[in-house]
Amino acid sequence: MQSEGPNPGTCCRCDLPVRHRALIAIIETGSGPGGSAYACLPCARDYAKTSLAPEWIGETIAHAEAMRIAFDE
Ligand SMILES: [Zn+2]
Repeated sequence: MQSEGPNPGTCCRCDLPVRHRALIAIIETGSGPGGSAYACLPCARDYAKTSLAPEWIGETIAHAEAMRIAFDE
């Protein structure tokens, strides 16, 4: 689902530029291109507590945390 390595960009929730983000949602439009929503780790952890969070969110957060440890040292 995600390639290895840091995933820098802008958080879809707080709009801050961060080095590591977790995939928190797949946007399905039915027709036309969908999209993926990425959030910084604090936002992803908050989102994981909501009923909107997909069941795989724990895995993408863990992946982003592992990347942060591996690449930021
Ligand atoms: Zn954020």
